[in-house]
Amino acid sequence: MAAQDRLRTYRGRRDFERTREPSGREPGAGGDAPRFVVQIHDARRMHFDFRLQVDDVLKSWSVPKGPSPDPGDKRLAVPTEDHPLEYEDFEGVVPKGEYGGGTVIVWDRGTYEPLSHDRAGRPVEFAESLERGHATFRLHGTKLHGEYALTRFRSGADEEEAWLLIRKGPAHANGHGTPDPRRARSVRTGRTLAQVAAADGG
Ligand code: MN
Repeated sequence: MAAQDRLRTYRGRRDFERTREPSGREPGAGGDAPRFVVQIHDARRMHFDFRLQVDDVLKSWSVPKGPSPDPGDKRLAVPTEDHPLEYEDFEGVVPKGEYGGGTVIVWDRGTYEPLSHDRAGRPVEFAESLERGHATFRLHGTKLHGEYALTRFRSGADEEEAWLLIRKGPAHANGHGTPDPRRARSVRTGRTLAQVAAADGG
């Protein structure tokens, strides 16, 4: 499916005359390794948005507590609509009353290595592993490093579908722990949510 079609839900929820979020009509950068981004979104409910580039869109999950460096933590991840690749750069205020109204910062980003294998140990296309409901990958971010898995544990329409985001392998000795979204700073601009809200007029 073309990116234009995959972004229909994303565009349908937004008025690009009002929000400065990207419309997804710019061509993607198309680097070598696929990209990931984790944004903090101070919306109706504070959450993290976890996004992995798959082909020409960012597959997206809303993670209320954010990713944990501790393999013992199972983090709920609720799928949301595919976002355009340029969303990786989005930081600012979505106007009140618009879809997702609230402040967004780019908490972390970088590249990832797809690691998905089948039971026989053969590599599986990453997009296919997501469709099957279990994908593993290694993140190379500024804050997040190491192997993670996304696993679907409940199927259903829209927000009934639910996944878990879990750190694999040994925990980092110097892990940053669970991020406090109000103290966290943007990896792009060094700003907190409050600073972005003040600058962009919330
Ligand atoms: Mn969000």
